[in-house]
Amino acid sequence: MTPYEIATIDGDGIGPEVCQSTITVLREACGERLRFTSYDGGAAHYAKTGAVLPEDTYAACRQSHAILHGAAGLPGITYPDGTEVGNDLHLQLRFKLDLYANVRPIRLYRGAKSPLAGWQPGQIDYVIVRENTEGLYASRGAGVNLRGELATDTLVVTRKGVERVARFSFELARRRKGAPRDGKHRVTVCDKANILRSYAFFRAVCDEVARSFPDVEIDYAYADAITVHMLKKPDFYDVIVAENMFGDIISDLGAGTVGGLGIAASAEVGDTHGLFQGAHGSAPDIAGQNLASPVATILSGAMMLRWLAERHGDAALNADADRVEQAVEAVLAQGETVPRDLGGNASCSGMTEAICRALR
Ligand code: ATP
Repeated sequence: MTPYEIATIDGDGIGPEVCQSTITVLREACGERLRFTSYDGGAAHYAKTGAVLPEDTYAACRQSHAILHGAAGLPGITYPDGTEVGNDLHLQLRFKLDLYANVRPIRLYRGAKSPLAGWQPGQIDYVIVRENTEGLYASRGAGVNLRGELATDTLVVTRKGVERVARFSFELARRRKGAPRDGKHRVTVCDKANILRSYAFFRAVCDEVARSFPDVEIDYAYADAITVHMLKKPDFYDVIVAENMFGDIISDLGAGTVGGLGIAASAEVGDTHGLFQGAHGSAPDIAGQNLASPVATILSGAMMLRWLAERHGDAALNADADRVEQAVEAVLAQGETVPRDLGGNASCSGMTEAICRALR
């Protein structure tokens, strides 16, 4: 059988450690069915060559079955306008490959203690779907700074953009088992429809899409209020769909409720391409010391397997994704090898070995 071609970009900071760790785990899980090829990209590469996403890297990403990325960005490597170069690696991929849905599962694993009192594994299990190609971040690189006196960025919401991410969210809710609290299939629309016309439009288009999904409940939450609800009633949520910047912010908050950024997986998918990386950044403070947790990237790798399985009708890859997730959970629950950000002292390589052992 021809292997799936996976383009990998290590990137900066902890990116190389967590990306290589994930490749090791996925090789253990899937053997020769995945072929990984590494490409350049990121802030350090920009400093050397002037390209954050070199042409050949982009071409390989476009042609591969999927993209696996560590993280990109280094402090001090910025464009003249002050914005960070590293982010441009995945931003360019998002826009060029039209990766419109950024899927971020918020799930409390056994062995990962929630900072919220009293919540058990199984009680926090929802997915944030962040619109990934428009919203406030659509203005990236195109805002106005007028004579150093005034600066603006424009929030962009289009019918096409909302329709597709809303449909994606409802379809996802339909396939899931419902909110832990009541088993209801539910999509919560997170916006500020009470304040801005663009968000009222976002909500109205979600309402229109909801009519085609009578089996899924539609629910609404203002972006400020949901930050409280996510702490006080996380079991109520099943799928949350949000504009780009709100989705960015609430997904970090959600990650915090289940153990932190080191366990937060992320998939950025469109109709034809998929990019998989942990929800965290390049964490330069702990880079190169074997301290980072590879768990977020490994779980993103499992999301990649599921996405490939669905696209190619490959049930075996789905089973492999289950095995990877179960191996991660078994290691965390066992409590002997736990990453530092979850209260243990395991190194990046130690976590990788433990997860591979659990897979075997
Ligand atoms: P970005 O803006 O690129 O998302 P950020 O500024 O939000 O990045 P991160 O790089 O995500 O910051 O890291 C924030 C902090 O979280 C880091 O300083 C690090 O201590 C911790 N952290 C992030 N990822 C991990 C990880 N995989 N393992 C352990 N700690 C991590």
